[in-house]
Amino acid sequence: MKKKKILGVLLIILFLVVIPIVAIILLWPGFRTHTFEEQKTYIYGEDIVLDAGDVCYGNSFLCNEVHISTSEWDPKKLGEQEITYTYKYEENTFERKQIIEILDKEAPNIEVEENQIFYCPNKKVYEYHLKAIDNYDGEITDQVKSTLEEKEMLFEVEDSSHNKTQKRVEAIQKDDEKPIISLNGSAQVSIEVNGTYQESGALASDNCDGDLTSKIEIQNNINTKQAGEYKVIYKVKDEFGNEASISRTIYVYQKSQTIIPNGRIVYLTFDDGPGPYTEKLLNTLKQYNVKGTFFVTDQNLSKGYENMIKRAYEEGHTIGLHTKTHDYSQIYSSKEAYFQDLYAIQEKVKNLTGHTSYIIRFPGGSSNTVSRNYDRGTHIMSELTKAVEARGFVYFDWNVSSGDAGETTSTSKVTSNVIDGISRRNPAVVLQHDVKSFSVDAVEAIIQYGLSHGYQFLPLTKTSPTAHHGVNN
Ligand code: ZN
Repeated sequence: MKKKKILGVLLIILFLVVIPIVAIILLWPGFRTHTFEEQKTYIYGEDIVLDAGDVCYGNSFLCNEVHISTSEWDPKKLGEQEITYTYKYEENTFERKQIIEILDKEAPNIEVEENQIFYCPNKKVYEYHLKAIDNYDGEITDQVKSTLEEKEMLFEVEDSSHNKTQKRVEAIQKDDEKPIISLNGSAQVSIEVNGTYQESGALASDNCDGDLTSKIEIQNNINTKQAGEYKVIYKVKDEFGNEASISRTIYVYQKSQTIIPNGRIVYLTFDDGPGPYTEKLLNTLKQYNVKGTFFVTDQNLSKGYENMIKRAYEEGHTIGLHTKTHDYSQIYSSKEAYFQDLYAIQEKVKNLTGHTSYIIRFPGGSSNTVSRNYDRGTHIMSELTKAVEARGFVYFDWNVSSGDAGETTSTSKVTSNVIDGISRRNPAVVLQHDVKSFSVDAVEAIIQYGLSHGYQFLPLTKTSPTAHHGVNN
């Protein structure tokens, strides 16, 4: 009896409590989430697909798809961010929160353009080209740390997520560049005999060693008591032993003094040769034992007649320097151009005669104005007339013109011009051109006149009257 009662009570409980509860549980409508993770990790750069879980609305027998919306989030932001999912079915809503973390796992990339990097003995590294790019931080070249080891250059960089990259490039020690040395002040300095040479020094720098000015060694052999050309040599070596040097030319000059000989003096001078008529002229001068002066050139016209320069020198005539090229546009373009041309003809004459001539005549004379066309307003004749003297040259103009440069082409007119001129001027410095046959042909009559009228013909020397015209440019 008691057992039946208990069974009955249990049945009643089953029907009235358990079954309804189970039924309610199974049939109660609501949001059901089966899989949902409260924390999720993603890798930066990969496609991030949010996981809102497997959620539906309904009961155990019928579950309906729900509408899911997501709070704002940034797929490009590293670290943690909280996402709120809102699930909606008809009028029912439900929210869940999830923490996502986005991690950057990718290390930066270092690129070096060169396969080898060079460095100086003092470890200074030659230029190279480096770039470091990170998938998240972008360009981080300026954060690259470089370490020079004996045979390698090590580059290291870390991105903001502490991903590290190392790169090694072969490193080779070298220094094949000479120092660069330059003069303070002018490369040519003129001082008068017994004057003082002031050393203005030089500057030196090196690709590896930087400023080497203090290591410059200066050698000079200047004797200011003795006129001449001297060199000051500046030498410097870098740490690797590469040597560079530069020099300065010092002209110690004696101001020329003019000595005017007694008597009636004529200096016959001939410009622009040698040429086809120089030989005939030399024969005439020799016949009368008259010495003159040849202001020679090395222009095309003179080619093949160089031996006439040698002969004139050997026969006691003065070889003066006129110009190598006789090209006004070139020689009067700058002081440097003028001296380049002048030293070239000086060298040529020295090679032919063994004698270095310091007697010169400017093309066009010192009074020429043609130089204005080429000197870009630098008044080059004013500059050159001083500069040549400072370098020990004596320049000569003339005070008797034969007219053979333009106003006449007749031998008789040249003769009368010169005879007229020498009778008015004493001493007379006569200008003729031995590249003109009609002018050369006048010389014998001029000499005959001169010798029969008590004139003395002399070659120019450094102390002869210079017959300067005066400078117009
Ligand atoms: Zn000339």
